[in-house]
Amino acid sequence: MTEFYQTADVVVVGGGVIGLTVARALALRGAQNVVLIERGSLGAESSWAAAGMLAPQAEADCADQFFQFCCQSRDIYPAFAAALLEESGIDIELETTGTLYLAFTDSDVNELEKRFEWQSAAGLQIERFDAEIAKLIEPSISPEVRAALKFPLDTQVESRRLISALANSTEKLGVRMLTGTTVEGLRIERGCVVAVETSRGFVSTGNVVIASGAWASLIKTPYPHSSLRIEPIRGQMLCFEANPQICNHVIYSPRGYLVPRGDGRLLAGSTTEHAGFDKRVTAAGVNSILTAALEISPLVGSLGLTASWAGLRPCAPDNLPVLGACAEIGGLFYATGHYRNGILLAPLTGELIAQAVVENKVSPVLDIFSPDRFDTVTVN
Ligand SMILES: Cc1cc2nc3c(=O)[nH]c(=O)nc-3n(C[C@H](O)[C@H](O)[C@H](O)COP(=O)(O)OP(=O)(O)OC[C@H]3O[C@@H](n4cnc5c(N)ncnc54)[C@H](O)[C@@H]3O)c2cc1C
Repeated sequence: MTEFYQTADVVVVGGGVIGLTVARALALRGAQNVVLIERGSLGAESSWAAAGMLAPQAEADCADQFFQFCCQSRDIYPAFAAALLEESGIDIELETTGTLYLAFTDSDVNELEKRFEWQSAAGLQIERFDAEIAKLIEPSISPEVRAALKFPLDTQVESRRLISALANSTEKLGVRMLTGTTVEGLRIERGCVVAVETSRGFVSTGNVVIASGAWASLIKTPYPHSSLRIEPIRGQMLCFEANPQICNHVIYSPRGYLVPRGDGRLLAGSTTEHAGFDKRVTAAGVNSILTAALEISPLVGSLGLTASWAGLRPCAPDNLPVLGACAEIGGLFYATGHYRNGILLAPLTGELIAQAVVENKVSPVLDIFSPDRFDTVTVN
């Protein structure tokens, strides 16, 4: 491979949904000479594995700041989808039927009740149904269902189309993409970034956004005491062929979920595993996903299984994203640790990181996600 030397105003490391959204937002804010560096091909890691659910209400246990952040990102999706369609011609299939959450056991019923109470007290859109109504809404669900919630604003997108739309739009906006190129380390002088070192040479730059997902803490800096630790959390997924489709809503239970796609695929997920960087689909993973899927709808048992895969969710020690400038090193920004919510949080992450880089203005919304929050924490 030929050695190269390039210069950039901003380098974005990682071409998943987060790196692509940040690069697009930088270009839209007028950043010139943005270079995105991706080790493999665009969007082929966790972003490719995702189910594409935009479901903060189905996932949250309380109305904390993180929940507000998630809802804000969900609520800008219609404008984000429309802009991407205009820029790229690609429809990311924002599907707005809503999300159902089913209870099958006493403990599930209690859980649903609690969720209904705090979400209605917080003024959120939520509906509660008994089993009979739930079965009328989705006839394919199990007769064992006890109760259901509906979150009308929790939606889904086709995450692989989202990647294509982002890649297309970002390239048209003038961002240079260096795929098949690994960022190995950062060169720092007098406390500021001056270049990134890659497998093909170095790129001189004063600003770097680390958006390399589960691999974010593997990029070397001359600051070995930096305590940022991003851990890969494996999620396995199964894909069935459902023609005709067996449900209209995204359907959750406390143990799993089904996601119907417009083209007849039905996704079933997922596992949450500490397995290092191992992306294998395992017998135990398949078993647990199948058990949860069949509990939601026994009809899944008659469908053809067409694919299975696993991805590595990027997870910080406190499960929150890591977003914003690093106080220790001038010109260094992080946009990682999105864990279960990278698709959901992409548009808001892009906006706020681009604002921080281009306008040097860090929104107070980002305080709780600061990369510096780990400096006082001992992580083994
Ligand atoms: C099974 C599963 C289901 C999920 N479902 C949902 C969902 O329904 N909704 C939701 O919001 N989220 C979901 N997620 C989470 C979501 O997929 C992630 O949070 C999101 O994809 C993270 O995006 P990313 O760009 O940070 O990481 P990635 O998509 O992993 O991208 C990181 C990129 O950085 C590149 N890279 C790494 N190191 C380097 C380097 N040194 N140099 C250059 N490039 C590098 C990698 O090759 C990769 O392409 C799911 C995840 C999984 C696994």
